[in-house]
Amino acid sequence: MAARDGDGWIQCQCGSKHWGKFGAAGILIFRDSVESGREIFLQHRAPWVHNGDTWGIPGGAKDSHESITEAALREAHEETGISPEHLNPLALFSDDHGDWRYDTVLAAAHDLINADSPNDESQEMRWVPVDEVTLLTLHPSFAKTWSDLRQLLNNLVAPI
Ligand SMILES: [Zn+2]
Repeated sequence: MAARDGDGWIQCQCGSKHWGKFGAAGILIFRDSVESGREIFLQHRAPWVHNGDTWGIPGGAKDSHESITEAALREAHEETGISPEHLNPLALFSDDHGDWRYDTVLAAAHDLINADSPNDESQEMRWVPVDEVTLLTLHPSFAKTWSDLRQLLNNLVAPI
């Protein structure tokens, strides 16, 4: 496995500091459920992490040798236990700050994800119907991009 070289803070021209020397990547995992329609997979971040006690998508610093999709799938696996073979990356959204970028991969979940994800029943992660996302206290960066992401999501058909 190649070295993890992306960890570190960047002072961005937007005035904020961001995590990820080569940018960061996240993954918006979605599925269409019979009961609640389209849902996305959200993670409740622990209170002690940066912007803790908020809901967001799995993600983190991208390493220099990784593609956006590689980084997003790796983070999904590390943080949720979801295996890349159960995810189907379909679209990309870039929040480009100039000096720094947060790229979000939109990925459809295969049916198997329900049975296989060891963390699926964890209180810190759950499927949230798209209409209920804004009822949660969202991570500030995710909150900022959610309406754009939702529009993109509306155009995607889950290939299941
Ligand atoms: Zn910035």
